[in-house]
Amino acid sequence: MPKPYIGRFAPTPSGGLHLGSLVAALASYLDAKAANGKWLIRIEDIDPPREVVGATENILRTLEAYGFEWDGEILYQSSRLADYELVIDKLFNNGLAYACTCSRKQLENYSIYPNFCRDALKPRLDAAIRIRVPELIYQFIDRVQGNFSQHLGQEVGDFIIKRRDGFFAYQLAVVLDDSEQGITDIVRGADLLDSTPRQLYLQELLGFSMPKYLHVPILLDVNGHKLSKTQCSPILPIVEASKLLITALEVLGQPVETNLYKETPQQILNYAITNWCVDLIPKNQFMVYTHPY
Ligand code: GLU
Ligand code: ZN
Repeated sequence: MPKPYIGRFAPTPSGGLHLGSLVAALASYLDAKAANGKWLIRIEDIDPPREVVGATENILRTLEAYGFEWDGEILYQSSRLADYELVIDKLFNNGLAYACTCSRKQLENYSIYPNFCRDALKPRLDAAIRIRVPELIYQFIDRVQGNFSQHLGQEVGDFIIKRRDGFFAYQLAVVLDDSEQGITDIVRGADLLDSTPRQLYLQELLGFSMPKYLHVPILLDVNGHKLSKTQCSPILPIVEASKLLITALEVLGQPVETNLYKETPQQILNYAITNWCVDLIPKNQFMVYTHPY
């Protein structure tokens, strides 16, 4: 028996949601609900310098206006710092992680960390913490993008799990929280495809089971820039919920009936749950979206 489906949407509160976020939220919601699963919300608020006041509230109100209903309590990463620290302690004490004091300047000519501090046994104070990666390929089969693999040693290198400024890295927090919340299926934007092998490695180190992955295309604007909260991409207007849900369904290659435009967001979501078909999602990592909304 497979485990009951638990999915999630995990926005960073660095701004309001845009059409690209809606596509990711919608795909994760439909995939969870079509499987009779749960859909959880996690607010990834571990990077205060990037956060915008009021963004969390704005994201949640937008999701509600677009008809999304989440299950259970919202998990805030800012409430999990002590747990992250315990894992850092463990990885540091068993020699899998180490302190790195290299400056940005020292590393500016390297695309991959040159392991300067790997065996230097530096103290943890005022240092970043890096995890040793093995000279191995990590791979998985994405439900849309197919086979994806990365040689961690050659393509990524020892990566940071806690920054020198004291903040925890996304790669660590996401793995700990997906495990904590019992996530079985991760559905998110394809910009995170090349983070996944790092996350598989951390899951393996920490003895967590591997979720299934589905990466949906991310949207680029006419200039080829990814729609993003920090690039000030247009945020989702509340009054256009039905129209933009349909646009997002079209981006995901899902069937849309003409009379759907007149329906409420809830009705559109119910229709889309019934008709959800993963095979129709375009197998691209990027899609250019030119229409203003
Ligand atoms: N917080 C990330 C973002 O907003 C998503 C993380 C994930 O889905 O793994 O891009
Ligand atoms: Zn270093």
